[in-house]
Amino acid sequence: MKFRSSNVNRMVFVLVISFAFIGVTDSVFAAQKVPIRFDDYHGYNGTVKYIKDVVKVHGNITKLIEIGKSNMGRPIYVLVITNMKKGTTVDTYVKLRNMRKEGVKNVPPMKPYQGKPGHWICGSTHGNEYTGTEVCLYIIDKLVSGYDSDPKIKQLIDDQTFYICPMVNPDGVYNSVDKGISQRQNSMMKDDDGDGKINEDGYDDLNGDGHITQFRYKNPKGQYVIDDEDPRLMIRLRRNEKTEKQRYSVIREDKDNDGDGKRGEDSERGIDLNRNFPEGWFTDGGMAGGQGDYPTSAPESHAIAEFFTNHTNILMAQFYHTSGGFTYRPLGTAPHDKLHPKDVAVFDRIMGKKYLEIIGEEVPEAWKETGSLDKFKEELKKTSKNKYAIARGYELPRGWRVSYNEARDRRYGYGMASDWAYLQYGMYSITTELWNPQKDIKDFPQFTGENARIKVRRALLKYQDEKYGGKLFVPWKKFKHPELGEGEIGGWKPKYRSNALPGKPLLDVCEKHWQFELFRAGLQPEIVITDAKARVLYTVNKANNAVASQKGDQVSIKKGKSMGTYKIVEVNVTIENKGKLATHIARGAQLAGNREDVVWLIGDRDKITYLQGTPFQKLGVIEGTMRIPGDSGREAARPPQQPQMRRMPRFIPPGFPMRRMRRQRLQPTEVKSGGTKRKVKWLVAVEGDTPLKVVVTSQKGGTKVKNLSIQ
Ligand SMILES: [Zn+2]
Repeated sequence: MKFRSSNVNRMVFVLVISFAFIGVTDSVFAAQKVPIRFDDYHGYNGTVKYIKDVVKVHGNITKLIEIGKSNMGRPIYVLVITNMKKGTTVDTYVKLRNMRKEGVKNVPPMKPYQGKPGHWICGSTHGNEYTGTEVCLYIIDKLVSGYDSDPKIKQLIDDQTFYICPMVNPDGVYNSVDKGISQRQNSMMKDDDGDGKINEDGYDDLNGDGHITQFRYKNPKGQYVIDDEDPRLMIRLRRNEKTEKQRYSVIREDKDNDGDGKRGEDSERGIDLNRNFPEGWFTDGGMAGGQGDYPTSAPESHAIAEFFTNHTNILMAQFYHTSGGFTYRPLGTAPHDKLHPKDVAVFDRIMGKKYLEIIGEEVPEAWKETGSLDKFKEELKKTSKNKYAIARGYELPRGWRVSYNEARDRRYGYGMASDWAYLQYGMYSITTELWNPQKDIKDFPQFTGENARIKVRRALLKYQDEKYGGKLFVPWKKFKHPELGEGEIGGWKPKYRSNALPGKPLLDVCEKHWQFELFRAGLQPEIVITDAKARVLYTVNKANNAVASQKGDQVSIKKGKSMGTYKIVEVNVTIENKGKLATHIARGAQLAGNREDVVWLIGDRDKITYLQGTPFQKLGVIEGTMRIPGDSGREAARPPQQPQMRRMPRFIPPGFPMRRMRRQRLQPTEVKSGGTKRKVKWLVAVEGDTPLKVVVTSQKGGTKVKNLSIQ
């Protein structure tokens, strides 16, 4: 099928004109070095152009990574936004046992930005849910444009790393927006109908108007009737619903291209990427399909799996979908009790509370009065049949929910990215379904009750009549279908169906979710070395004089046959998490790919001997400064017990006071105190003036370094 580009251009022109009077002013975009507007969707081509322009202009704070390619060869891009000159990673200082090597696919040495708390934001896992792509672009613009002018944003970009993937499913976006054929799934080169030809029978622009809308035709067995109030709308009948009205069938514009008697049976459509992730993946005859042959069988989900595996600094993750105007926090694949209670508290009573405030929905009482959850649990026992709600102390509100069906105790989803990111990688991952016209369009009429959905559809159609000059909807016109006979073609231009309407409504959606992700960025942990001191206890010059020279701090030591000058140095370091949340989700440090926070004392390995404390010491998970409402703290991570040193250190400087050593041997590493602080101590013998460094590394809390000056 061909599209007449003149039509598309004319339509864009009309949109620009019509937005002028609904209040999009130039001042909004004043600080942009790379101009971007939201008067229409950017689609695949517009998005790629924009992010490439951003990298050209903002090279100091951005980097574009291609993490994979779709089946149709389109790159899957992640835009990294962070101060590229700031940040460091542990493998810069310590030769790790399995050192990452250049040239190994997707496992290059860590980049400095991997040593900062990471925030993943992506859109369009489902190709026809591109409102998420627009929100990603909006967030990119806010970050890069705010860097020079807004100190708060500058600090975020200096201290954190944003990984923004505007199109997880570039083929789906290309087909849905650039070509106007709505496509949820990815694209696949496969022969669906087994006739030896690939993708030869997709949808067709029957009337050649540049849009694949709908064809309606009279059919006594049809499931649709024409709406009484607005005859442009087709109302779907309930199963077994009786009607006196003329019944219709409604299909997408389509004909039988390969003469096999079927329409649209061999299109580009592939699988549902948000059913192709490993968590809870299964094939089950009873469930909706589209999950693929095996988990991460699609190049798009595979690319994300590799990226997450190699970017272990991600604590926050957002997967934008459309529509509904609410957020799913985990889980959909399993019931509530698979979540750690502390994570539930962070999800619901910190993030959920903020989200409801932003979208303008009522916050549950139990989230405000967090001290008395037991009271709410007792009350719910009387009123609710939902055992999970009773266990929590509250029902989840419309705007912040799980996709698990708690009422029927049945999982809804399988193979979903967000559950997997939480359970496997320990991210605070959420899936936001963007766009609810009743909330996102100012002064839109509010409907509740039985026919609310139909009323919203009528009002939306009227809204596009008034604000967009009716250009988003193709009026029904008679058409004779080659196989189905007389009928009419018309309906919403597919691009504008089910997504936030461009212009003011889309901008409002973008702004709300930018505010929400900004809030979540403000919760990230932040590891800081607040104090580091190295003090010389003794200096040793000659082995034979060791004991004698204890007058003062002169002790001599022997190293092999050669003599050396050693300082016996005591190192004291204080490490703090100054961020709001702990350095891992509650179950995070136990996950296969995760590890607890660690501090290293580093120097030339041939010139340092660790007398007390090993080169690295484990710190557990360091709590954040925020009190988690409703969390008792009983489950909070504690610094782990260190295994006691069984043998004496490799060598002890002769003359080193043994009584002191023995006493200290009982507690070789002094990792002190839980909560937000750790105090760590070492005793080392240092040859000459070799420099010492302290490197604290937290997968999600950041890596920090301090050079010690020995005093
Ligand atoms: Zn979706």
